[in-house]
Amino acid sequence: MAWFTFAAMESFPAPLAELQPGWVWLAGAGPGDPGLLTVQAWHALGQADVVVYDALVGDGILALAPAGCILESAGKRGGKPSPKQADISLRLIQLAQEGKRVLRLKGGDPFVFGRGGEEALALVRAGVPFRIVPGVSSGIGGLAYAGIPVTHREINSAVTFITGHDMTGDVPGGLDWAALARGAPVIVIYMALAHLRQIAELLLSHGRAPGEPVAIVCRASLPEQKVIESTLAACADDAVTQAVEPPCLVVVGEVVRLRAGLDWLGALAGRVLEPDPLGGRQGREVG
Ligand code: SAH
Repeated sequence: MAWFTFAAMESFPAPLAELQPGWVWLAGAGPGDPGLLTVQAWHALGQADVVVYDALVGDGILALAPAGCILESAGKRGGKPSPKQADISLRLIQLAQEGKRVLRLKGGDPFVFGRGGEEALALVRAGVPFRIVPGVSSGIGGLAYAGIPVTHREINSAVTFITGHDMTGDVPGGLDWAALARGAPVIVIYMALAHLRQIAELLLSHGRAPGEPVAIVCRASLPEQKVIESTLAACADDAVTQAVEPPCLVVVGEVVRLRAGLDWLGALAGRVLEPDPLGGRQGREVG
């Protein structure tokens, strides 16, 4: 453990916060590529007694934990396939009260569709001190790995992040789909796969064009990253025929066209990038 901590502190020339006994740090691990961990999260990995991690945190990141650090899956603990959120929060409190240095590691950013706020509030109620370590959210950094900027000046002045299902598991009923269709030029959808057909139909029925570009980005930033370029009308069928599997992001909007010019990972594999992916025309600003 010592060499790791030492190496991290040695190579980063600014003071980093220290994970103290009895504390819980709620940290984002980024979309998957270990290089997208923040320096602070990496530093904490070197200090933690216990890492309680989510299913989205991959082996490449867990492998960075030093020998002696206990890795505990929040998804499989006690033989239960999917523990209740309350159980996870209780476990964090218990570990902290045992005086452990606890790193709660979540995919992406802990406060973006990650229940980080719920866990932090449970810590507050229990009087457990905590720190939030933001992470690179997959809806931004993961799309960047697909060569899709979430904003592009010629296309959109706003980007909207939504979840494909709410707490009940259904398409979020609280969303104003008409307003979204009218006023959200770029929509990034987390957890979109289960209800993709319904979401696409909602956007189409509220006026979005069937030919509007859509990308489905799976396992972003990992070696097995897969990107499907489609349209609003075709994306649900394409997800089926291409046997798309989660985790996936779906992005709806003209920014998807930029991938023809910005697929930097593809270029590494020989793709010839298009220097003028918008074809000299301005994108359509919705709203
Ligand atoms: N807190 C996370 C999101 C958790 S919700 C974040 O900020 O990224 C889980 C959803 O995130 C998945 O269903 C998927 O939509 C998305 N996601 C997370 N990691 C991903 C990845 N590497 N590739 C594609 N989608 C990902």
